[in-house]
Amino acid sequence: MHNKSISELAAGLRAGEFSSVELVQHYLERISSLDPQLNSYISVCNETALEQAAHADQQIAAGDANPLTGLPIAQKDIFCTKGVKTSCGSHMLDKFISPYDATVVARMKQAGAITLGKANMDEFAMGSSNETSWYGPVKNPWDLEKVPGGSSGGSAAAVAARLCVAATGTDTGGSIRQPAAFCGITGMKPTYGRVSRYGMIAFASSLDQGGPMTRSAEDAAILLQAMAGVDPHDSTSVDEPVPNYSATLNDDLSGLKIGLPKEYFDSGLDDQVAKSIEEAIEEYKKLGAEVVDVSLPNTGLAVPTYYVVAPAECSSNLARFDGVRYGHRCEDPQDLEDLYKRSRSEGFGAEVKRRIMIGTYALSAGYYDAYYLKAQQIRHLISDDFKQAFEQVDVIMGPTTPTTAFGIGEKADDPVTMYLSDIYTIAVNLAGLPGMSIPVRPVDGRPVGLQIIGNYFAEARLLNVAHRLQQTTDWHQSAPGGFE
Ligand code: GLN
Repeated sequence: MHNKSISELAAGLRAGEFSSVELVQHYLERISSLDPQLNSYISVCNETALEQAAHADQQIAAGDANPLTGLPIAQKDIFCTKGVKTSCGSHMLDKFISPYDATVVARMKQAGAITLGKANMDEFAMGSSNETSWYGPVKNPWDLEKVPGGSSGGSAAAVAARLCVAATGTDTGGSIRQPAAFCGITGMKPTYGRVSRYGMIAFASSLDQGGPMTRSAEDAAILLQAMAGVDPHDSTSVDEPVPNYSATLNDDLSGLKIGLPKEYFDSGLDDQVAKSIEEAIEEYKKLGAEVVDVSLPNTGLAVPTYYVVAPAECSSNLARFDGVRYGHRCEDPQDLEDLYKRSRSEGFGAEVKRRIMIGTYALSAGYYDAYYLKAQQIRHLISDDFKQAFEQVDVIMGPTTPTTAFGIGEKADDPVTMYLSDIYTIAVNLAGLPGMSIPVRPVDGRPVGLQIIGNYFAEARLLNVAHRLQQTTDWHQSAPGGFE
């Protein structure tokens, strides 16, 4: 059952081959026997998932099923989920039971999906390896000594290990695409504003975007359909019509112009990873695509720009976790200052504190112009690079990450090396563009991701481009050993 696609599962449910209760039970059993090795879930909703499944079975029997009715999905623990602990991977929110659903969660429920559990993640989505989670690191199902990527590492590992049908993730600088690449799954960061951020705990508000993490582009189209669209609760969501993402999956690719940015194939890129990417590009040529060399000259400025903008915004967003309004409160505070100090010192981990300090510094009087304003100006240059490239090409392709998954602990003590693992993904967030990662030929048994970047609101095109490759190759189908 756990190797079937979303549409196969939906058909099986409708045909009465199995019930949603059976499906949910099957996944709950897999989680209890296999997840202790991975740690991909922070919370598993055993009882409520079975209740929702019983309700879904009634709906299916009555003939009023929606596209995701009865299908168990994992929500990244950054999405507020009513009545369920929503920790954001932090001790700060370890006891926070959300009183409401994030729009993404509400819409998935409306589409019939069952919340199977909450996926592990880097604390407040800050990280590239899932090692900053208060709940401990997640292991990569392809190699338990390696990281799954981050911050949506729990979602990626759970999807790859078939511990849910699909999952949600969020991507501020690469957190959907990078773990998707490391775990051999399909992940999409939509255009900024395509998916509502309401109830998605904010890290860097001008960069954060939720999106689907699935085993195929076909499944991603179904998930995105449920998630996308304007939301009166989020003024940055965009009132742009939501196309039928599944309808154009099979569109012909002949004449598609693929831009290859020379900056994405620099000396930092592992040779073997480069070979896998080139092989995938050759497949696209067979499908009728044409390759054009392009340049994104400000690529090298993306990581430093991001590490001013993201910490600045996070220092402001995380001010609300003060032990009074939200979050962990220290024991026996002496006075208000002591309450703030100790609650925040105890509640946040080292990486979160580092970001808050950098951000507060960058925003302080006298430094604002030198850092934050400058970073915003460079952000424009980065967007302009893409704008010019998209005058020549339909999509941009390159590697998602410079290497395959690295070892647990390998970069944990060196933040800058860790930050560089997002070198090919971060510019996409700074520009607000949609980007995907899909699995291509693995290197030494470890997955490699091909990144596909599109113009604003070109999600349907990206899914189409990804799907066509998945129709002619089987890189996306293999399961990690022990999780087949
Ligand atoms: N790895 C990046 C960071 O640590 C991106 C995280 C994300 O996309 N949420 O900030």
